[in-house]
Amino acid sequence: MIRAALALWLLLAGPLAAQGFAGLARIDPAASGIADAGEGVSVDLALSQPVPYRLFTLIDPMRLVIEFREVDFTGLIAADLLRTGRITDLTFATPRPGWSRLEATLADSLAVTQAGLAVDEGTGTARLTLQLNPVAPDRFAALAGAPDDPVRPDPTLSAPVPRDGPLVIAIDPGHGGVDPGALRGDVVEADLMLRLSIELAEAINRSGTLRAVLTREADVFVSLEDRMTIARAAGAGALISLHADALDDTVTRGASAYTLNAEGVDRAAQRMAERHERGDLLTGLDLTGQDDRVASVLMGMARADTAPASARLADAVIDGLRSTNAAVNSRPRREGRLAVLNAADFPSILLEVGFLSNATDRTTLSTADGRAPIVAGLTTALQDWAATEAALAGLKRQ
Ligand SMILES: [Zn+2]
Repeated sequence: MIRAALALWLLLAGPLAAQGFAGLARIDPAASGIADAGEGVSVDLALSQPVPYRLFTLIDPMRLVIEFREVDFTGLIAADLLRTGRITDLTFATPRPGWSRLEATLADSLAVTQAGLAVDEGTGTARLTLQLNPVAPDRFAALAGAPDDPVRPDPTLSAPVPRDGPLVIAIDPGHGGVDPGALRGDVVEADLMLRLSIELAEAINRSGTLRAVLTREADVFVSLEDRMTIARAAGAGALISLHADALDDTVTRGASAYTLNAEGVDRAAQRMAERHERGDLLTGLDLTGQDDRVASVLMGMARADTAPASARLADAVIDGLRSTNAAVNSRPRREGRLAVLNAADFPSILLEVGFLSNATDRTTLSTADGRAPIVAGLTTALQDWAATEAALAGLKRQ
């Protein structure tokens, strides 16, 4: 989880991004601070405007590095910000044109457990907040390292792991980090989907017949491509991406399962794609090459195999949700050209578990009790689906 936070570009998805940057951002020392917080340390930086940034840690000595594109540090000194003894030094530099680097020397092994950049729509200012918590020194060492520029893990490099254990199901909590997904009041899609995903992963692992892996385990931004890489590296036999978006209307509710269809794109799927590909596009990741590569390498070969299995998975999921009386949309099966499904070379679906724009769904999804029928329905569905696929594979072999 922390690795994902540290190894990725965490870039801005705010409204000012499209307008370009009017001059350099500045840190307001009076409104900023690095202080003790809970078990660890919080970093709170008030920026005059949102800027792309990234985080990583280094060893010898242990340091936290925050790189911005770009911030004018003129006049800033460590004493302006430092209110904790757990960070022994703070330096400000411009290591290369266009990039500004804040380096904090850590007194002990603290790892980033949360990071987020919030933009104030009214004033146009932004606030970068990080939480660092203690980890074992060997864990710190394992996480440390500067990412390559830019970080684009190559999915073709991670060979699938042998599948001798239980079937691995990748659970993909939608959004995260600078991409919160849908927001309604204090309800945030990224948070809810993480909670639901963790509950689902626990239920799957308790089942004994399947094993779950999460594509993110904290509130961090993970690109679509990296989600696939994580799933692939874990040897996933299927991926289920969980979302609860908001629509303009407040009536639409209940779960719907999306599968990939490059040709027939319905309007709901089109809107879904617009909502979900925005995150990656705004973070500056170039998806064009990925599309081409996936198209040439994976899609042609893999889709013939995975499309029917994905469709069976989507059907099983809707049946499973009905069996536990979880709310199901009046049109629960949809198809679209969705990047998260595009990139998967294993059966994959995107499940909209409900809509934050609907009050009933919002309430249901906000409590563990409300989510329980969804978790139970999905667990049953995944077990049923896995059994069906195993039986079909057995038939094929005969
Ligand atoms: Zn979503």
